[in-house]
Amino acid sequence: MSLSSDAHFCKKCQKDTPYSEILVRKPSKYDTDRSVIGRIKLFAHTFINGGNYHDMDRYVTCKVCGLKELDNKGQEHE
Ligand SMILES: [Zn+2]
Repeated sequence: MSLSSDAHFCKKCQKDTPYSEILVRKPSKYDTDRSVIGRIKLFAHTFINGGNYHDMDRYVTCKVCGLKELDNKGQEHE
């Protein structure tokens, strides 16, 4: 994780504002598979995707007004 000082355009503030971001892992189809093989698949899937970044939903929260937005730009591929 790297701390970013980038600004994010907040729809509510209508300007670039400081923000904090959090990553929430998307539910994976492998999560419902509780078998050992399923766990291995989940691990492999995570590994192949480079530390599961592509399975994360990225949320940014405006530090000025507190608006929380889903911001998954550029992560459309599977
Ligand atoms: Zn805002």
